[in-house]
Amino acid sequence: MPDIFDEISTLGHEQVVLCSLPEVGLRAIIAVHDTTLGPAGGGLRMWQYNDDRAALTDALRLSRGMTYKYAAAGLNLGGGKAVIIGDPKTQKTEALIRAFGRFMSRMGGLYLTGEDVGITLEDLAVLRSETPYVITMPEEMGGVGPIAPATAVGTVAGIRAAVEAAFGSPDLEGKRVAVQGVGAVGGEVVRELVKAGAAVTATDIDADRLESFRRELGIEVVAPDAIYDVDCEIFSPCALGATINEQTLPRLKAKVIAGCANNQLATPAVGDDVHARGIIYAPDYIINAGGATIDADRLQPGGFNRERAMTSVRAIGGRVAEALRISRDEGVPAYIAADRLAERRLAAMKAVNSLSSAPRWSPAAGLEVRR
Ligand code: NAD
Repeated sequence: MPDIFDEISTLGHEQVVLCSLPEVGLRAIIAVHDTTLGPAGGGLRMWQYNDDRAALTDALRLSRGMTYKYAAAGLNLGGGKAVIIGDPKTQKTEALIRAFGRFMSRMGGLYLTGEDVGITLEDLAVLRSETPYVITMPEEMGGVGPIAPATAVGTVAGIRAAVEAAFGSPDLEGKRVAVQGVGAVGGEVVRELVKAGAAVTATDIDADRLESFRRELGIEVVAPDAIYDVDCEIFSPCALGATINEQTLPRLKAKVIAGCANNQLATPAVGDDVHARGIIYAPDYIINAGGATIDADRLQPGGFNRERAMTSVRAIGGRVAEALRISRDEGVPAYIAADRLAERRLAAMKAVNSLSSAPRWSPAAGLEVRR
């Protein structure tokens, strides 16, 4: 295991803050990865880690991922993440959340937070009473409300872009799509696909939910494991991560993989194999950025504007297309192309940031003009 400072400098973090208040049982870590594009954004997670080191590694890894996600999404946010160590079911108290809010406030807005595993919208409302630096809020407190519908709109825009790269047209009419998971996002994706004239075969481990979609939309349904064998043009992972793996990839018949799930590829090697098989893969953290995009809109001057936010969400199609262009032109798998897209924006903005708007020297310093 590398030393902590080695790990931080290898991953490129700017700052990592340890927060401790034993009186209320608070042990938390706030990781600020990169603030080139803006304050570090990223959800707050509460989880019972095996040890403190595992919590630190999680915060470091997730915050770095947020830098890439926001950069590729064209948002003006840096990458951050915070973790509270503890069991959210038994150890989460008002005092704990409020104490964490005080620590956040001390950072003066360098880190902005939202929902993640173990933290609910209600917890964020409590946090908001201590600190203004909360992005995701319940609708009644000025937040944007559920973000899954926006994630679905971005996902469908990304599916169209990937279909265009594979078949020469973004038209979904008559295309067969196999959708894995009809949850908050996947269910909306299915509705949009049906509206666009696609033929949908869906699955879910929640048989009742799946059946209600079958009745409502007349789609085909299959058992969870059978989704990998569906004869289709597009495979859309909308459930959990790592469902594209060594076992499932050889079974897929699709020319396109495009869905909303996080961390779809089990390993980088699987991503290389997807590329080698000539399958067009819409990079997960670009295609699923619709929720983050609508949420971040309230940081714009004047506050949240749904129309502007949804225009940005629909632009996700163009970002997927751009990553696929880099993949094609540079001969690299799409997951690497996504990282390059993000890294190029970061490098360009680092250069822009080096141009301070305040003069760094007095124009006449040291010069005596002799006449
Ligand atoms: P959700 O829990 O509402 O939906 C997930 C669905 O997948 C559920 O209906 C569940 O029963 C089903 N499922 C789980 N395992 C399955 C399996 N093995 N086979 C078939 N179905 C299975 O979650 P969601 O909010 O719709 O998110 C779906 C995915 O998208 C997740 O990976 C999430 O991280 C990602 N994502 C969501 C958002 C968002 O705005 N909600 C944003 C970005 C990424």
